[in-house]
Amino acid sequence: MHTYTLSGTDLRVSRVAYGCMNIGGTWDDTPLSTDVRESASRSIQAALETDITLFDHADIYTRGKSEQVFGDVLKASPGLREQIVLQSKCGIRFAGDPQTGDPQRYDFSYEYIVASVEGSLQRLQTDYLDILLLHRPDPLVEPEEVARAFDALQTAGKVRYFGVSNHTAGQIELLQKSVEQPLLINQVELSLLHSYLIDEGIVANMSGVSSALATGTLDYCRNHNILIQAWAPLAGGKLFKPNAEADPALSKTAQLVSQLAEAKQTNREAIVLAWLLRHPAGIQPIVGSTKPERIAACALADEVALTREEWYSLFTAARGERVP
Ligand code: NAP
Repeated sequence: MHTYTLSGTDLRVSRVAYGCMNIGGTWDDTPLSTDVRESASRSIQAALETDITLFDHADIYTRGKSEQVFGDVLKASPGLREQIVLQSKCGIRFAGDPQTGDPQRYDFSYEYIVASVEGSLQRLQTDYLDILLLHRPDPLVEPEEVARAFDALQTAGKVRYFGVSNHTAGQIELLQKSVEQPLLINQVELSLLHSYLIDEGIVANMSGVSSALATGTLDYCRNHNILIQAWAPLAGGKLFKPNAEADPALSKTAQLVSQLAEAKQTNREAIVLAWLLRHPAGIQPIVGSTKPERIAACALADEVALTREEWYSLFTAARGERVP
């Protein structure tokens, strides 16, 4: 797996990263079982064996258990913490937190950001996060308050670098007006089956297409050296499941993925991820499979080169129509 230095940092990151959302078992208060612990350990080990260096978390994943089980693996592996890039997110609060009746919401207040990072550090059993992302845009955001929280966290040595997730270009600009540290990452949903950020550059200004799509987020990030991380880069495995047959575009895309995998002597996961890697923005897929064999298959995307024609054939199949 190729690695490179993330722009504006001293962090060596792998082209494909590992998402830890699913390693903690269920999204409830059930404590971590031995099975879940062993499975998480195998997933992390599989990612490390492919030379993945960046591990993505969030305070909320499986209600803290994903960070907790990862922290246990870190504790049991001396020296590992310094070898990896640890990223987490904050800002989403579940319903009922802290009072019964409180709605699910976003919270970019100073207190919440700082408290959330403290919680992540404790669960991960580390003194610092390499990267902290704001998980989803909070309509009630006060950029000056975010700036204060980031300053406090950085000064205390608790977070080294910062970014956002699911943000538009305008939202990033708004934050960056007050936040002193460069926002280095925008993590967004992006895959062959969810390619709106790429599609909008093609369909902007066309009749019948909502102008709300035309936010220019991808180009903005490219222009400002903001790394695009793609979440759900395998589209949750939809292309590989038998029900792909039910939807004509999905079925055609799945067929093409299989053909290309065969022609290039690789696997289907690698083709789906290679489609993202072929984009010149330098997109970093955050793979979320928990299965060691699939994680290994995903890492092979780094070795696949798609031609322009192959890239467009996949894009067209998934869109269900040719480009205009
Ligand atoms: P993903 O990598 O597209 O999908 C992983 C899911 O697909 C797993 O449930 C996996 O099951 C299944 N899958 C993969 N290949 C399959 C196959 N061949 N057959 C059947 N099932 C298959 O995406 P994701 O897990 O949704 O997200 C990846 C990471 O992105 C997360 O871990 C998290 O770090 C991040 N994320 C961020 C946000 C955000 O708002 N920023 C939101 C969601 C996720 P197995 O485990 O059984 O392989």
